[in-house]
This record gives sequence, structure tokens and C-alpha cells, in this order.
Amino acid sequence: MPRITIDVAFGRGSEHPVMYVLKPEKTLRALHEDNLILKISDRVPHRLGGDGWRSDQLTGDINRGWLYHGVLKTYPKAAHSLARDSGRSMSSPSSGSSRGGFATPPQAELQVAVKWVRGMRAIESLRREARMYDSVLWPLQGSAVPNFYGLFVGMENDVEVGCLLLEWCPGNDPVAAGKPTADVLRMRAQAVQDLHKVGVHHGQLYERPDALCVSDGRHFLRAQDGTIRIVDFQRANMHQCRVSEVHDVDEYADYQGSPCNELAFAFGYSHNAYTKGLLKSIPWNTY
Ligand SMILES: [Zn+2]
Repeated sequence: MPRITIDVAFGRGSEHPVMYVLKPEKTLRALHEDNLILKISDRVPHRLGGDGWRSDQLTGDINRGWLYHGVLKTYPKAAHSLARDSGRSMSSPSSGSSRGGFATPPQAELQVAVKWVRGMRAIESLRREARMYDSVLWPLQGSAVPNFYGLFVGMENDVEVGCLLLEWCPGNDPVAAGKPTADVLRMRAQAVQDLHKVGVHHGQLYERPDALCVSDGRHFLRAQDGTIRIVDFQRANMHQCRVSEVHDVDEYADYQGSPCNELAFAFGYSHNAYTKGLLKSIPWNTY
């Protein structure tokens, strides 16, 4: 396991910044030789609705999670060591810490989505998700699923804290985006098909099968280039898809009675929207 750490800084521009020093459990191989600083931005975070995380909740925000926007900077090890030797406290978390400046600029700077959690059950959920990104979902990173940059964990007052870093998708507000267009439904269907081809059933994509709804939109994000990324694999399962190869989303007309419900809904919405002009009849539920 690499000996690098990641410094996660909340409110760095404020009077009361908080810094956590976490260790990697999984990282993108390209990051192994670097040291990492993650600056959490001031954007309002989204609440994460972890499945079952709260059943062992004791106090406060244990086993709850938030999705933040952050900027990840990578520095060569040598530059980082010099800064560390200048006497900065390594206690975690440290309040009001004043990090010494770096002599060299960062090697890379990435916008990332930060799933930040506290508590053992929530961390276990992140570990499960990280394993999926690192194995079966690996071929789909940057296409049907976001790029995965790492899982980092640490302790704070005897409570595990941790974060999962993923590609930042700017268009991720399903309420603001409204009802998806026929083109978006087509891209979603293609992404779901890609997922099932590698043997993964997401399990949360069509929670209201009679409606296009906000809860579905939460799991279909738009990447920087406008393409679709499916997210949240906490309830995903390995799946031997019984739908034979589908070559073109538009050709898949016989979605009713399909042996795979998740694909059936994806293709059903897309097909109807394109060929029958039925998009208006699919209710958009913003409950
Ligand atoms: Zn399937």
C-alpha cells in the first residue's frame, strides 16, 4: 500500500478551516506516486441517502453522508516532504492549520465529486462501491460511469471518516434540469445497456416505474461533455442479463415482457419517446 496521504481541507478560505489527513485504501494507479490535497469547495453539498446507514446511528451525523464538490491537487512527493518538515501539525483534524507553501506548482488539478461519510456502516458502503469501480465497472469509467479516483479513510475521535472521489459531473441537479428529453432518455438507455453488458444491475434506477422522476434523475448525471454517467452502486448486484445483445436503442421495440426489468424501463422510455411521441404521456414526478 502506498505511503501517501491526502489532506482534506474544509472551509480553507474561512476563519475556521478544518483539515483531515486520510490514508488511501484504493487509488488510481497514476496517483500512487503523488501526495494529494483536496480542497472542499463552498458549494452547498447534497445529502446522501445511504441505504441502511442510519440503523446503527448513535449521535449527530454518524453514518450519514454528504456529496461535496472539491478540487484535487497532486504534488510530487519531494515538494510535499519539504512542506511537512516545516513543522505543520499532523493532528487530525487540525483547526486553523497554516500549511507552508509549495515551492512547485501542482502536477495536476482535478474537479472531483467527494462522497464524505462518518461511521463504520457508511464507510463499509463506500468500500463496496469502491470495489465495484475498481473491478467490474473499470472498463466503463469515463463513459457509462464516472472516473474513480480513490477511497480514503481515517479516524476522528474514534469515529471512522472517509471519502470516495469521483469525476465531477456539473449537470447534476435533476430538479433544475426538469423532465429529460428524448435524446437524454436514449443516452440513458445506452448507458444502462453498457452496465448490464458487464453484468451489473444497478437496482435504484427506476424506483417509480410509472414515472420519470427526480429519484431516477439522481442516478443519471451529465458529465462535462454532456454524456451520461450512472452513479451510486451501493445496492448494485452482479447480474446475468437475459436480454440478448441489443444493437441499437431505437430498434429495441419489444421491451414489454422483457426478462430484465431495468433494461426494459430504460428502453421503453427511450423507444416510446422516439417512435411514438409518447414522452409527454410519461409523468414527470417531482415529489
Ligand atoms: Zn439486465
